[in-house]
Amino acid sequence: MIELKVMKLSHNLSCATRMKFIKKAINMSTPTVSFEFFPPQNLEASFRLWDTVQTLAPLDPTFVSVTYGAGGTTRDLTRDAVATLHKSSGLNVAAHLTCVNATKEETLAIAADFAKAGVKEIVALRGDAPKGEATFTPCDGGFANSLELIEALAATGDFKIRVGAYPDRHPEAPSAQADVDWLKAKIDAGADEAITQFFFEADTFLRFRDECAKAGIDAPILPGILPIENWKGTRNFAKRCGTAVPVWLEDAFEKAERDGRSDLLATAICTELCSDLMSEGVDALHFYTLNRPELTRDVCHALGVVPQVDLQNVA
Ligand code: FAD
Repeated sequence: MIELKVMKLSHNLSCATRMKFIKKAINMSTPTVSFEFFPPQNLEASFRLWDTVQTLAPLDPTFVSVTYGAGGTTRDLTRDAVATLHKSSGLNVAAHLTCVNATKEETLAIAADFAKAGVKEIVALRGDAPKGEATFTPCDGGFANSLELIEALAATGDFKIRVGAYPDRHPEAPSAQADVDWLKAKIDAGADEAITQFFFEADTFLRFRDECAKAGIDAPILPGILPIENWKGTRNFAKRCGTAVPVWLEDAFEKAERDGRSDLLATAICTELCSDLMSEGVDALHFYTLNRPELTRDVCHALGVVPQVDLQNVA
């Protein structure tokens, strides 16, 4: 069944108008979109980020977010990328912020810098342990967990706060219910919305959404969508994150790689995942772009998200 749908979608990929027709036929409204970028570490990566921004900005994202390197490693790069994007792209920029390797004062000083620069949205995270360390340990004087960070940011009144959520269950969560309860605590502490870790099947998200609703979470939960640029890399990353990898997906990429059609498959699978979510009422999608815009753009076009604005003042 899935293969059949994927084949149908693949056939139509290059033609946005055909996909628009299909979308109309199944009566779905166009979703809003947002995009995650990571801060560039060198000149070449800066050009790649700019190319990504120029390609995706015309899709009129609700916001774009900039990650904060694991272990707090990109603190200055994140700050620079956020400030530059905010100033020159005209996009609504959200800065990621973690609790790793910084005291409370240092973390809140970074947040204050964001506010001063006019950045009003933060993705507040505990963060992962620095490389080589197995578990997260708060640094002396640092926030002990995401809850403390969220409370402190909420107390400033300066930010819209988004937080992470885990439909496949976070590797450190003792149970799926514990994960939902922890998310509820984060929303109660002042978070406005959640963005999920990526997942491969719509049901995973929909089940999680149901559990969250049962727990009384009424904040919006944006599904995090990862277009698969590189199957082996994605599979390894998924294993590290605790994201379940379905057998049918393994098989599909094995065959597609053999035939040199991985990009086509990736676009079709991602489009289908998004349209399955949309047919269950999801109206906002958050894409992990990995600073590679083409797949995300093609999926957005296939979903009927087409250029809305000319990007001004870029470059
Ligand atoms: P939390 O939600 O605080 O904790 C994760 C899970 O651990 C919880 O769901 C809960 O089950 C359990 N848990 C933790 N503490 C407790 C407690 N005290 N009591 C009970 N249960 C607890 N990482 C980066 O380094 N930089 C980034 O920019 C970044 N961006 C991300 C963006 C999104 C949308 C997501 C989903 C993740 C991102 N990450 C990023 C990864 C994230 O830092 C890791 O997944 C980290 O391990 C958890 O961070 P968190 O804030 O989601 O954790």
